[in-house]
Amino acid sequence: MNFCSHCAGRVSLRIPPGDRLPRFVCEACGTVHYENPRIVAGCIPEWEGRVLLCRRAIEPRRGLWTLPAGFMEKGESADEAAARETFEEAQARVEVLGLYTLYNLPHISQVYLMYRARLLDGVFAAGEETLEADLFDESMVPWDDIAFPTVRETLMHFFADRRRGRFDVRTGTIGPAPWQRPPAP
Ligand SMILES: [Zn+2]
Repeated sequence: MNFCSHCAGRVSLRIPPGDRLPRFVCEACGTVHYENPRIVAGCIPEWEGRVLLCRRAIEPRRGLWTLPAGFMEKGESADEAAARETFEEAQARVEVLGLYTLYNLPHISQVYLMYRARLLDGVFAAGEETLEADLFDESMVPWDDIAFPTVRETLMHFFADRRRGRFDVRTGTIGPAPWQRPPAP
């Protein structure tokens, strides 16, 4: 960040009084521009026992399979974001059933929220950012071509929990251990 989004003055990176981390602070109006983690919300959409996956048409991991998910927009709830992303990426309308996983990815400052969901009518198609969408039985999931570790882990837990007939919310942290991360800016 070079300029203040409030007054267009120049910003500098420094630790404001009473704070403990460097922030972009406007030299002109004094506004402190905080940067906080972003939330990714998505669905595990089910239809007749199969799970809807999308093959990515965009980088990163173009050509690999993922669950529909994306960054929350301002003004929406996390479950609304999950349903919206499912429609945008897989053209599928879903009923969001409940939170299933919360994964922290501190090395990239993101939090993933994945919801269980049910397709309303079994209709789906590739959205703008998707090469193809398809429904998979557990035995047909392309495990070697899953785009992200969070998605792989979510799917593995989902099928295991479905077999035992109980879905508890799962939480975890994925990514490099703290001592492997670069120092905070
Ligand atoms: Zn300013």
